[in-house]
Amino acid sequence: MEMLKTLFLPKQLNQDLLSMSQLHAPQEACGLLLGKRNSADAAVDQFIPLSNEASEVDRFRIDPRDYREIERRALVCQKEILGVFHSHPQGRSAPSTTDLRHARDSWGAGCSWVYVICGLEERDGEEIRSWQLRKGVFTPVLTGISGVSGEFLHGY
Ligand SMILES: [Zn+2]
Repeated sequence: MEMLKTLFLPKQLNQDLLSMSQLHAPQEACGLLLGKRNSADAAVDQFIPLSNEASEVDRFRIDPRDYREIERRALVCQKEILGVFHSHPQGRSAPSTTDLRHARDSWGAGCSWVYVICGLEERDGEEIRSWQLRKGVFTPVLTGISGVSGEFLHGY
């Protein structure tokens, strides 16, 4: 399993994720982050917003059919799904106990996916932070803001 040091996020995408989270409140916004990775770093270059299939307001769920279709298209473009984004309209940009439980149910002790979370209660540039599940615990991954351009894809 690859442990990341830094997840690079284009500046514009970072702002788009924040705006999208504000727009969806009080619902959680979610989507998938695509890009490329090497052993220590990953760079996001596409974000695909998805409809949140959860019925509760403080949950998010992605349709597995959406996931499979995006995975297929990512392979064609030689990209990979780096992780998942979701927002906490009334919370911090850290994983909730529900996030941890779901992540452990899905992945066990750890996974290569990055969880990028936007917490609308945060201030001072801490709104968007990244995490990786390691040994059953969410560990922070540095979120590097890059100057390169990224795509916010509506309707993949
Ligand atoms: Zn959450």
